[in-house]
Amino acid sequence: MAEKDQLNFNNTKIAFSHKSSHDLKKARLLFNSFSYKWLLKLGPGMAKMALGFGFKGIIKSTIFDQFCGGESIRECKKAIDLLASRNVGTILDYSVEGEEDEKTFKETCSEIKKTIDVASGNDKISFSVFKTTGIGRFNLLAKVSSGKALSKLEEQDYARVKERFESICKHAFEADVHLFVDAEESWIQPAIDALTEQMMFKYNIKKSIVFNTIQLYRKDRLDYLKNQIKTKKHFMGFKLVRGAYMEKEAARAKELGYENPIQPNKESCDKDYDEAIDYCLDHIEKVSICVGTHNEKSSLHCVKRMRELGLENSDSRVYFSQLFGMSDHISFNLSNANYKVAKYLPYGPVSAVVPYLTRRAQENTSVAGQAGRELSLINKELKSR
Ligand SMILES: Cc1cc2nc3c(=O)[nH]c(=O)nc-3n(C[C@H](O)[C@H](O)[C@H](O)COP(=O)(O)OP(=O)(O)OC[C@H]3O[C@@H](n4cnc5c(N)ncnc54)[C@H](O)[C@@H]3O)c2cc1C
Repeated sequence: MAEKDQLNFNNTKIAFSHKSSHDLKKARLLFNSFSYKWLLKLGPGMAKMALGFGFKGIIKSTIFDQFCGGESIRECKKAIDLLASRNVGTILDYSVEGEEDEKTFKETCSEIKKTIDVASGNDKISFSVFKTTGIGRFNLLAKVSSGKALSKLEEQDYARVKERFESICKHAFEADVHLFVDAEESWIQPAIDALTEQMMFKYNIKKSIVFNTIQLYRKDRLDYLKNQIKTKKHFMGFKLVRGAYMEKEAARAKELGYENPIQPNKESCDKDYDEAIDYCLDHIEKVSICVGTHNEKSSLHCVKRMRELGLENSDSRVYFSQLFGMSDHISFNLSNANYKVAKYLPYGPVSAVVPYLTRRAQENTSVAGQAGRELSLINKELKSR
């Protein structure tokens, strides 16, 4: 096997060659600060207050700089070029959250189309992505998902959501750009699935344009995935993730007294995740996947299975993806071995991406977990320089 094809996620020289020692020390300080839980509790409120007092520059040069590309697509150019120089694609992720009015939905819809326009014919940008809650009200999606009848007004409202959803997918189809539909809370996911399935049927004619996202932390999603693949004849695309709303899912199930849809433990979640990879790879002639994970074992599992099936490392039907600012040791070592890799690059006005940044900070609190891993790799690299 050529040296380039050898995979070693501990190779910090490859993982961090794009970062100066100054950048690495800055990242170390940031990941270290996440271990102060009291600081994180103050985080969102303090961030908003700090913005009010004009501390935008400080937030922008610290946590925003680590996890986001910029406030606009134009500002993301530096990060896009940097990733491309290491053979890693970009997925522009317009990360504005929270506002639920028609004006914001329309603006978000046209911004997503801009990300598609930028991606069209541009080999530095691998996919576009959107969240259905960015173009439709959460409670409306929940009502549709529950199967309850909609009022006249709600029906009109939902017709507009469908119109926006379809216009984004059509735009991607015409621009020949692969498009991810992100997965969200289980009680709005049936509506998202139904819309996505229709779009897959309509636009995945010659290849997989529209991708649904499968959360394997749910007990029922491996079966859903298999059933889709078994019963549909057209091309299909799936982004495989573990899932981001575990606490919220458990809390709602408890409050309303239904069975928690989440797996009983991490092991069963991991088992289903790797089985989902296997099942998709076994149907690669019609299924494209994006392995969206920071988990080294699952990434290596996919690599091993690709090898067993005789797939080229650079087969574009199999992508690996991590978030910008996280798990560079996985992204850059995979790309160095010629695998297809793309990173989510969130962008948007600093004040509007605070919820996204808060989630990143919160998932990096455990020193035994992700933050500990990032810190030990950064320390290893700094020591060797
Ligand atoms: C490119 C990309 C795209 C993403 N898109 C989405 C998306 O569209 N929708 C979405 O919801 N999330 C999305 N995520 C986030 C993802 O779902 C995970 O929250 C995150 O990646 C952590 O999981 P992991 O596989 O990287 O790593 P790991 O650290 O191995 O796994 C952590 C995850 O395991 C699961 N878990 C932990 N403990 C348990 C337990 N006791 N029982 C059951 N499960 C458990 C949880 O999902 C937790 O987040 C995305 C992530 C990436 C990298």
